[in-house]
Amino acid sequence: MARYIGPVCKQCRRENTKLFLKGERCYTDKCGYDRRPYPPGVHGQRRAKFTEYGIRLREKQKVRRIYGMLESQFHRYFDMADRQKGVTGENFLNLLERRLDSAVYRMGLATTRAEARQLVRHKHLQVNGRAVNIPSFLLRAGDKITVRERSKKLSRIEGALEVSGRREQPDWLEVDRENLTGTVKTLPTRDAITLPIQEQLIVEFYSR
Ligand code: SF4
Repeated sequence: MARYIGPVCKQCRRENTKLFLKGERCYTDKCGYDRRPYPPGVHGQRRAKFTEYGIRLREKQKVRRIYGMLESQFHRYFDMADRQKGVTGENFLNLLERRLDSAVYRMGLATTRAEARQLVRHKHLQVNGRAVNIPSFLLRAGDKITVRERSKKLSRIEGALEVSGRREQPDWLEVDRENLTGTVKTLPTRDAITLPIQEQLIVEFYSR
């Protein structure tokens, strides 16, 4: 699946908030948003006036960038959520969180979702004892994520574990940092997703 390969910090500046896409760098004074907290481009420093449509668009783009997806794939998740029973916005976030790359990031094995995605692509992870190299693999309750034996000593995983302690641990994932395993206790609920997201705006955007 294709992915965005342009300038990363510009995405935070465009969304006017820190999206934490660069791991440790986001907590230092090298953060692009901290240095230039206004949108990119020659007119970036002008005061922007958003329409109703613009507000919804920006919220959708923000979440899409947090999860590192292109529009077509992101829209597909929305369509899946829309077909499910229950509240569409919550179903949508639930699907995004249940992706294998997202769970690997939440376990603290990677400093960013992009790095987690690469770990999965390079076959360093297993689900229920089987190697899975599909970042969009959807986890179910009871699934067990493990790091392959040969990958346990990877310096990037060890480095990520050292610094991931500052991140909030999700209660739907039981993480064993000693053995590098994670078990999906239950499917994530809306309360478990603490990112500053107004999913209702995304529902309204796609339902217009
Ligand atoms: Fe965003 Fe700052 Fe991280 Fe760059 S360093 S991705 S601007 S939070």
